[in-house]
Amino acid sequence: MNFFTLLVREISPKIHIKRHMNTSVSLFKQCSGPLSHFTDEELLMKESVAKLAKEEITPLVRKMEKENKIDEGLLRKLFENGLMGIETPEKYGGSECNFMTTILAVEEIAKVDGAVAALVDIHNTLVNSLIRKVATEEQKAKYLPRLAQDYPGSFCLTEPGSGSDAFSLKTEAKKDGSEYVINGTKMWISNSDIAGLFVVFANANPSAGYHGITTFLVERDTPGITVAKPEDKLGIKASGTCMVHFDNVRIPENNILGQFGHGYKYAAGFLNEGRVGIGAQMIGIAQGCLDATIPYTLERKQFGQDIFSFQSMQHQIAQVVTELEGARLLVYNAARLVDAKKEVQKEAAMAKLVASETALHVTAKCIDFMGGVGYTTDFPQEKYFRDCKIGTIYEGTSNMQLSTIAKCIRKEYS
Ligand SMILES: Cc1cc2nc3c(=O)[nH]c(=O)nc-3n(C[C@H](O)[C@H](O)[C@H](O)COP(=O)(O)OP(=O)(O)OC[C@H]3O[C@@H](n4cnc5c(N)ncnc54)[C@H](O)[C@@H]3O)c2cc1C
Repeated sequence: MNFFTLLVREISPKIHIKRHMNTSVSLFKQCSGPLSHFTDEELLMKESVAKLAKEEITPLVRKMEKENKIDEGLLRKLFENGLMGIETPEKYGGSECNFMTTILAVEEIAKVDGAVAALVDIHNTLVNSLIRKVATEEQKAKYLPRLAQDYPGSFCLTEPGSGSDAFSLKTEAKKDGSEYVINGTKMWISNSDIAGLFVVFANANPSAGYHGITTFLVERDTPGITVAKPEDKLGIKASGTCMVHFDNVRIPENNILGQFGHGYKYAAGFLNEGRVGIGAQMIGIAQGCLDATIPYTLERKQFGQDIFSFQSMQHQIAQVVTELEGARLLVYNAARLVDAKKEVQKEAAMAKLVASETALHVTAKCIDFMGGVGYTTDFPQEKYFRDCKIGTIYEGTSNMQLSTIAKCIRKEYS
């Protein structure tokens, strides 16, 4: 049992009893009213993650960025505090929360560090989620506890020749007796420097085109896997992004995740949830940047008064705070729809598009509000600005989100 589960039992025994009575009135699944109204458990997670971020992540942010890696002690704390299995059932060592709780956790972490938020987000919304929803009971029992307590996972879809056009991937899985032999190269794989498990999309029947794409669970120590050195990036530097090579990697047939040939469906479907997670990362980064900026504008004096007093400053600050609130509501609405098991393709694309473009605007404005010091590494604004740039690129670029939204609009009007 992790720290978060213990805390819930301590503070809210009724919630625990409800969960274990197996009643359908779980507080995780029920929250009506305003989008920014949370259940007791959601609030508890939000507050405990905010505390952990402030106390444990803040002191390590610059060190991790310099070293291009997540601190090992911090990684252990993420596991111990239930942040690496937020929705994973308790019986597999997770915190058994809802999707909204994952979103709130990612947002709180991103207020302090976008790189740690990327780790927690991708691990929970793509890797854990896919295994929880489509794996066999045997696979869940084997991998979910380890993903909740021991090692992070990576989602391996993109390749050097296939990014936006993800399903033109070239990695192949050839059947050989009761095994599959995987050959190919994956690119830009987050968490791959520290992952213990790779969820790999490979074509096991190229003659069927993308209908041959199948998902495999591949353990890191399988012979034939090479993880290259992390890319030197603009932002989220501590989040390891590497090429992963598969050279005659032999995988038992029962490590196919879900149905043969359904890989493209899983990738498309789970990336919808993933995009809400990226939206949460973006609103967290933007809020963290504002929280570091507005107090400065109240203190900094020019022309004999604090710079917040100038009406043109007030209007710009009011504008970006309002834009951020709008983005946040799109993210929360998409998260609530996921928990309600509704279709979120359009809403997830909108949430990610608006949140990532808003975060870029908000963080750039924050640098302006700071003046010269905002442009230096002595202050955090420049890092927030660099960290949020990834939001318009990964899990589908802004162009691809617009294409998805347009596809949905055409369907609605046809
Ligand atoms: C830091 C980082 C972490 C990542 N983590 C992961 C990960 O964990 N797992 C994973 O599988 N992938 C990961 N990715 C890959 C990421 O999802 C891709 O980079 C992204 O989907 C874009 O693909 P691309 O880089 O090949 O760009 P391209 O597809 O080459 O796009 C280049 C430009 O062309 C535009 N474009 C392309 N096609 C169209 C079109 N049809 N219409 C309009 N515009 C178009 C794009 O919008 C973009 O502006 C990561 C990438 C980065 C940078």
